Parts: sequence; C-alpha cells; structure tokens
Amino acid sequence: METYEYDCVIVGGGPAGLVTARYISEAGFSVAVLERDREIGVPVLCGEGVSRNIDNLGVTERRDWVENEIVGARIFSPNGTMVKMSAERAGGETGYVIDRERFDKELARIAAKKGADIFVMCDAKKANVEGGEIREIEAKLDGKDVKFTGKIFVGADGVESKVGRWVDIDTRLKPKDIVSCYEYTLSDVECDKDYTDFFVGRSLAPGGYIWIFPKSDDTANVGIGVLASYSKSALAKQLLDKFIEKKDFLRKGKPVRKLAGAVPVALPIQSYRGNVVLVGDAARHTDPLTGGGIIHAVIGGRVAGETIARALREEKLSLLEEYEKGWREKIGKKLERNYKMKELASTFDDKTFDKLADSVKDINFEELSTRGLIKALVTKHPSLLFKLKSLIG
Ligand SMILES: Cc1cc2nc3c(=O)[nH]c(=O)nc-3n(C[C@H](O)[C@H](O)[C@H](O)COP(=O)(O)OP(=O)(O)OC[C@H]3O[C@@H](n4cnc5c(N)ncnc54)[C@H](O)[C@@H]3O)c2cc1C
Repeated sequence: METYEYDCVIVGGGPAGLVTARYISEAGFSVAVLERDREIGVPVLCGEGVSRNIDNLGVTERRDWVENEIVGARIFSPNGTMVKMSAERAGGETGYVIDRERFDKELARIAAKKGADIFVMCDAKKANVEGGEIREIEAKLDGKDVKFTGKIFVGADGVESKVGRWVDIDTRLKPKDIVSCYEYTLSDVECDKDYTDFFVGRSLAPGGYIWIFPKSDDTANVGIGVLASYSKSALAKQLLDKFIEKKDFLRKGKPVRKLAGAVPVALPIQSYRGNVVLVGDAARHTDPLTGGGIIHAVIGGRVAGETIARALREEKLSLLEEYEKGWREKIGKKLERNYKMKELASTFDDKTFDKLADSVKDINFEELSTRGLIKALVTKHPSLLFKLKSLIG
C-alpha cells in the first residue's frame, strides 16, 4: 500500500481544514488535506450568508467570492412584525451573500500556494491508533488504498466527524442539538437585494428559522432549518415548500439548486486529545443560535494552524492545549451565550415571538447591552420576564 508521510494530516477540505493547513504550511511544515469529494467547495451545503467580520480575518486575497453586499437584516415574527437591523445598528453582523464554492476554492488556492498538498477524492476510512494517538490514516485515494502518516492529525471533517471518535472523543449529537436544513437557490424571484430576511415561529420552522439570502435582485437562497428534536428531516422541505407557496414574490421562482444538510447547534466538545485536534463543525464551533459556522471555522482554523506549527517546532504535543485556550478566548463566550439563547428560543410559541418582535422593533441595538435589551423587553411585555430570566446575570 502506498504511504504518504507528512508532519500534519488534515481530514476535511472545508474552511476549517483549509485555513488550518495554510497556517501550518506557512510555518514551514508539510501538510496533507484529505477531501473525499471530487472538488473543493462542491457540493455547496450552505446558505452562503456571512458577516463582514470575515474581512478582518485576512484569510483571502481575491474578492470574487462576494456575490452581494447586504445593507441590513430583517427579522419577521409569525404575525409579520418586522425588526429591522440596519448596517449602522447591526454593525459587523450584516454582511455578504457569498459564492461558497469560490470562497472555499480561494482558501484552497492560498493553502496550496503556501505549500499544502490537497488530495481530492480521498476518503479517510480509518485510523491506526496506539496509546491514544493516531499513527496513520487509511484512505481511499482515487479508489486505491493508501496510508497517510503524520505527527499530528486534524479532524476538520464537518458535522458527521469521525476523527474525534477514533481517539474516543464523544462527538455524539442529541436531536435537540442538530438542525436539519433544506434550501433552494431560486432564480426568477423578486427580492430586495439589500436585506437578508429571517422568518421565525414555532409553526413556521420549529426550533429554527426560514432565511432568504439574496444573491442578486432576481436570485436568492431560500432555506429552512428545523431542530431535529421537533421533526423528521422530511418536514423541513414540506414547511419550506408551504412558506414559498404563500409568498407571491417567491412562488414563481425556479430552483437552480437544491440542497439538504445538517448543522450542529451544540456546545463545543473537547477539541484535542493526544495528537489529534478538532476544528470547525467537527468541534461543534457553529453558532448555536444562527447556525452560521463559516467565520468560526476560519477563526478556529487559524488558531489550530498556528498552535500546531508551534507544537511541531518545539516537538511538544502538550502545546496543543493552547489551541483549546485560544479558540475559547475568541469565540467561547459567544458560543455559550448563544447556546443558552437557542435553548430558550426553542421553547417559544408563536405568541412569544410576536411579543418579542413588538418589544424590540424600535430599539437601537448598538446602544443596548443584553441586560438592557431584556429590561426593555420585559418593560413592554412583563409576561416575558419568566421566560428571559435565565439570560440575566
Ligand atoms: C444548509 C446549510 C446552510 C448553512 N448556511 C450557512 C450560512 O449561511 N452561513 C454560515 O456561516 N454557515 C452556514 N452553514 C454552516 C457552514 O456551512 C459550516 O459551519 C461550515 O461549512 C463549517 O466548515 P468546516 O470546514 O468545519 O466543515 P465543512 O465545510 O462541512 O467541511 C468538511 C469537509 O470534510 C469532508 N469530509 C468529511 N468526512 C471526510 C472523510 N472521512 N475523508 C475526507 N473528507 C471528509 C467533507 O466532504 C467536507 O468537504 C450552513 C450549513 C448547512 C448544512
């Protein structure tokens, strides 16, 4: 069996794996990225919405992956009350609708330029583990059995991650911590290309929401996420079809792409053990409230790449614990807070969403802390106090 030798072997060629690879190769170490699909960035499994903060992370050089610049976000409660967050109010949280295939390919181009080897059609099948550390990974490359050896291994293999399990990290997800998604890219629709729209409600999308992310004024990603504990995955498509049927501006749209996938909306798990590091969706770094994971995959990927490079340079696996500290510093608090908010929001009925929207529709979000926001909510609707008190303090 042919054997490939690297300092670091990364399973998964999504944003997390590609950014990790880039920073390891930049430091002068050899890296292999194993991607089971035949092409980086394909198939797209994404709503393609990303915050403008992506610009501050410095992970791309070309900008051809930005398809549409968004002015603001609008959230609609079940009775149609709209909460508008303009660019000034929402700050970095408004963003872009991107071409995800181009974005991932740009990350791959840079990783390759820095020296990483990217193996597509390379499915990592199993690991040989000794003393809690991976020694080699057995993979199918172009249908042939091959092996990859390395000093450090990375699981950037997405929501269904296997790499963590190989070293006994508990990667199981409860149904209440997974969102089933379905999405159409619809052409020939009439949409307001300045806004991303979110529709919430227990009856509309239990435990999740429906999104309209415009790619242009006549094409949009229209998708739904539904908490798996509330539904079977088939329900997501049914609910989305029902929603589209009721909206005049969407009904005549023609699907040019359909996709189904899952998003972890869990608390992060242990992100390293022995010589193994988990990044991105594999580490459950997706935002539990929004389901957005691109930015966090990039942030975690950079911390992972830089830490792994140090561990290789100093030949000290114990340095990998710096990775856990590093990503927790950057996104840990946000993940925990948004997990609490997701847990709470998944209990709301339609009336509660309506009351919330009514309370916040005129608020300037920039000036308010979470505490201040909750105070404003309960002043207008005191009955919300009981529901929101777990978020105070
Ligand atoms: C329907 C949907 C809509 C979404 N919309 C948004 C959005 O609008 N904005 C946002 O920020 N996030 C969104 N997300 C989440 C976002 O796509 C993920 O958080 C992000 O892709 C995580 O990056 P990653 O690199 O960790 O994982 P992935 O992008 O999933 O990459 C993992 C890669 O590993 C490969 N792989 C898996 N197992 C193996 C193996 N054994 N061998 C080799 N390769 C393997 C896979 O083929 C895949 O390419 C959405 C997700 C879904 C499903």
